[in-house]
Amino acid sequence: MELRIEHLNKTYGNGVKAINDCNLTIPRGMFGLLGPNGAGKSSLMRTIATLQEADSGSITLGDIDVLKDKDAVRRILGYLPQEFGVYPKVSAENMLDHVASLKGINQRAERKELVAALLHRVNLYDKRKSNLGTFSGGMKQRFGIAQALLGNPQLIIVDEPTAGLDPTERNRFHNLLSEIGENTIVILSTHIVEDVTNLCNDMAIICLGQVIAKGHPAELVREVNGSIWSKSIHKAELPAHLEAHRVISTQLKGGKTEIHVFSESQPDASFHAVNADLEDVYFTRIGERMELELV
Ligand code: ADP
Repeated sequence: MELRIEHLNKTYGNGVKAINDCNLTIPRGMFGLLGPNGAGKSSLMRTIATLQEADSGSITLGDIDVLKDKDAVRRILGYLPQEFGVYPKVSAENMLDHVASLKGINQRAERKELVAALLHRVNLYDKRKSNLGTFSGGMKQRFGIAQALLGNPQLIIVDEPTAGLDPTERNRFHNLLSEIGENTIVILSTHIVEDVTNLCNDMAIICLGQVIAKGHPAELVREVNGSIWSKSIHKAELPAHLEAHRVISTQLKGGKTEIHVFSESQPDASFHAVNADLEDVYFTRIGERMELELV
């Protein structure tokens, strides 16, 4: 099964074109959808999750026409939105049991077994009697995944899942997602490049509603490798460098500013070549798209 998005468009009432002729094919496994805030990631995720309409184009999931047969999609979809409320006074176990019965799992014993298995899977079994209001951010996210996994979904969408998680929680959440990605389509929508580097074997970058790069992270890195140059400068020198070079990123390192520049050849002897990473790909492609916008 794969998810296929073709010529998808969405313009909001205020004139913002949030999805602009989007074409993507997403196979089983972890797929990273990367883009800055406002790129259109949530709009695309909500459309795939059947929570909002597109203006034109098509989405198919296996044989299912996602834009038409919403019920069929909902039966095999797990969606973890950016923010979701929990009932603070309900225990994790009771809440999952309730959602399981809403999903049509009618046998009490079967539900109990399923809920216990899911709580083990997301490492919350010891907290099953605790009220959801007492959960940390990471625990809530893992609870959200348990809820999204009810009903054995074929497609799981997680929108900006690690914002606000501490490094340990984030790590645990990543491990859980990659486990799920072994036999499900998992779309991870994020503005955190590192999350995609660590987790995804397929990805796309979107900006201003358009897909501006797609493929395997390592291949995308290979495309810019050899064109990324670095130099350590004083902050005061930055404007001159911005003027003279295509600076794709700046980072403070030990009190000095390290700049990365995109150039086919060495800009001058003061620059040294760096091994490109996904962050360089991201900033190069976003920079190109933004420049187009300014022309
Ligand atoms: P992302 O998830 O990448 O941050 P969004 O899909 O939330 O991006 O937003 C894409 C663009 O659409 C932004 O310019 C945003 O302001 C706009 N937008 C999002 N939702 C709405 C809406 N309901 N009505 C009008 N504009 C919206």
